[in-house]
Parts: sequence; structure tokens; C-alpha cells
Amino acid sequence: MTAFEPRRAVIVGGSLGGLLTAATLRAAGWQVDVFETSPNQLESRGGGVVLQPDVLDALQFAGIELPNPPGVASGDRIYLDRDDRRVEELYMPQMQTSWSLLYRAMKNALPAQHLHAGETFVNFRSDGERVTALFESGRTEEADLLVGADGIRSTLRSRLLPEIVPVYAGYVAWRGLVDEAGLPSHAADMLRERFSFQQGDGHSALSYLIPGENDSTVAGQRRWNWVWYRKYSREQLDQLLIDRHGVARPFSLPPGSTKWADVLQLRQDAKLMMGPTFRALVDATEDPFMQPIVDLRSPKMVFCRAVLLGDAASVPRPHTAGSTAKAASNAHTLALALLAAQRSGETIDSALKHWEGQQLQRGKLMTEMGMSLGNRLMNIAR
Ligand SMILES: Cc1cc2nc3c(=O)[nH]c(=O)nc-3n(C[C@H](O)[C@H](O)[C@H](O)COP(=O)(O)OP(=O)(O)OC[C@H]3O[C@@H](n4cnc5c(N)ncnc54)[C@H](O)[C@@H]3O)c2cc1C
Repeated sequence: MTAFEPRRAVIVGGSLGGLLTAATLRAAGWQVDVFETSPNQLESRGGGVVLQPDVLDALQFAGIELPNPPGVASGDRIYLDRDDRRVEELYMPQMQTSWSLLYRAMKNALPAQHLHAGETFVNFRSDGERVTALFESGRTEEADLLVGADGIRSTLRSRLLPEIVPVYAGYVAWRGLVDEAGLPSHAADMLRERFSFQQGDGHSALSYLIPGENDSTVAGQRRWNWVWYRKYSREQLDQLLIDRHGVARPFSLPPGSTKWADVLQLRQDAKLMMGPTFRALVDATEDPFMQPIVDLRSPKMVFCRAVLLGDAASVPRPHTAGSTAKAASNAHTLALALLAAQRSGETIDSALKHWEGQQLQRGKLMTEMGMSLGNRLMNIAR
């Protein structure tokens, strides 16, 4: 290969980690193709994501613009008790956006011919400086780099490190989205412009506003995003994961799948455990969804020309508000490392090794911080 011939990356996973990698590698002069198992546009009904500087830095490097404003700003953090008294208040400005807003901005920036939906990665072959990805469809793709951005249940990781699997942390995140106008005014007035929490005995809730339909940040058209962490035994979790059609879901309950009896139970629990504001949020939510909290950290991210990043490499608990930021940092620093190597004459393999050292450390710090925050919040002794 001549010095000017562009390198090629095959990226497995077309969610935020995969699209961030595609965007930043393209900005570093690489050719990229993204392969996503889902045949359809990914949709999450736009759950909340705290917009961290790492995401903005990666997008700026890639030349991707977000809508202006890119989310909804909050000023104060307030902590409510069971009677809605404000027990603590501090000024901590930040911006909250939605998963869908970020997804759409990045997907629109990637030429459609480089995004291959409905392609399930199954395995790979490595041959020195070349790597070949194999797909369920029979398709094969050869590249200089294979990136596993295929999430918590990464197939690439399962081929490389089968012993590294997600471990249930003993509690789940119930989540919900409510149209801004759908909340009674006593609750809306308490929550507006704030990042709000209610801390209970072994449970914990938070809420903030995020963009609404079509990424709108206009007052009245936004959405309330809430999360309620609750403890369940493994047996209780297995029961919850049976969806409203009787199907045992392997991992989480997406919107529209929670059994009606469990939705009613959640509302019942909110009556007993929540103050009026958070109770109103749970009551106003048609379709709560649920995600078990898990711990996962891969001890390696680079395997010759195959790399793991984002949730495939490590999953910090959501208390860090950092999964997307970590995926952005993984992707951005990978692109910078490869660009620097190309300019300095360093080999790709040596650039990957340096990148791995830094990013493993970052994953370790974030996963440890998430465990410590979560266990403290939920009164879990470890
Ligand atoms: C549909 C969806 C909605 C989400 N909504 C939110 C949200 O509202 N708020 C939030 O904080 N986080 C959300 N997340 C999680 C968030 O994207 C991640 O925690 C974080 O951004 C890191 O992303 P990731 O790309 O590494 O992993 P993920 O987002 O988990 O993406 C992994 C991707 O890989 C694909 N994939 C898996 N296996 C294969 C395979 N064998 N072949 C090809 N493709 C494969 C998956 O379909 C998925 O699109 C969502 C994830 C998804 C997939």
C-alpha cells in the first residue's frame, strides 16, 4: 500500500459508538463501512443522555453539527425527600440531550452507502495487517481495522474473550418519558430547569428535561426523562424480563414490552415510596421500560487489527452519565492516534497499543466510579 492510499475500517454496530467511530475515522482520512444487525432505523424514543464535553469534542473533530441548542440546559440540582421537601440544592449547570438527537445527527452525516443495515457480524479472520469480517448473510469484508462497537453483548468480544460477560449488579433502572405538557403543574414547576433527585432507602430516582419530538427544545414540546433505580433479586429480575406477550427477554425491556401487571405494580410502589413529584412522573408514563444494571470490563481492547470500544469494551454504570462520553472518547482518540501515526510514520499496530493503554485506564476509572456510586446509592455492601 502506498503512503497515500486510504486505509479501511469495518465497524460492527451502528449505534452511537459505531457512528462516532465512523465519523471520527472519516475525519482522519479513513474509509469506513458500518454494519448494523438491526434492519431498521434504531429508535429509543429518545431517552436522555447528559451531553458531556467528550461527545462535543468528537463531533467537532468530525465536523458534525448538532441542532442549536443541542439539548435542554439545567441549572440547579435539587434533592427531594419523600414529602417533596428540598433537602439539598446546589448550582451545577449542565445540558441534557436525547439519544435520538445524537443518533440522527451522526447517521445523517454518514453517506448512506457506507451504512449497511440488517448485516449481522458473526466472526473474523486475521492475517497479519489485514482482517476479514464474516457476516451471517455470507458477506465478507476485508479491512485494515475491524472495530467492535457492538455493545454490551458484543459478538466480537465473545470471539476474543468469551469469559468476559456482563454481571448483574443487583438492581435495575426503570425509565420513562413523558411529554412536557403531560405532567401536572405542581410536578412540572418543581422539576423545570433542574436536575432533580429523590433518594430513598435502597432506591433512587432522578429526572430532567430533554428534547422532544423532532429534537425540539421549545418550551412545551420537550420531554421529561426519569430513571428509578430499584433492587430486585435475580429471580425477580427473570420474572420482570418476561414481556407482556409471555416472551422471556434476554436482556432488557424496551418501550412497549413491560407486562401490564408490572406497570401497575410500579405505580403502586411509587405511591408508597415516592414524593408527589416523582409519583406524578411515574403515573403520567404510559410505557415504562427497564434496563438491568450490569458490570463489564474487558482487560484488553486491541487484538492485532481487531479492536473493541464503547459498551463492547466496558460499561460504566449510568450514575457516571458516561457511557456515551466514553464511547466518544474511545472513538475520537482512536482516530487521533491513527492520524498521528500516519503523519509520523509510526505503525498502526504501535498506535493501537498506545491508544489501548490510555483507554483501558479510562474504562477502569469509569467502571470503578460507577460501581462505587451505585453501591452507595443503593445501599449494596460489596
Ligand atoms: C436502540 C438503542 C437505544 C438506546 N437508547 C439510549 C438512551 O436513550 N439513553 C442512553 O443513555 N443510552 C441509550 N442506549 C445505549 C447507548 O447507546 C450506549 O450505552 C452508549 O452510547 C455506547 O454505545 P455503543 O454504540 O457502544 O453500544 P450500543 O448502543 O449498545 O450499540 C451496539 C450496536 O451494535 C449492534 N450489534 C450488536 N451485535 C451486532 C452484530 N453481531 N452485528 C452487527 N451489529 C450488532 C446493536 O444492534 C447496536 O446497534 C441505546 C442503545 C441502543 C442500541
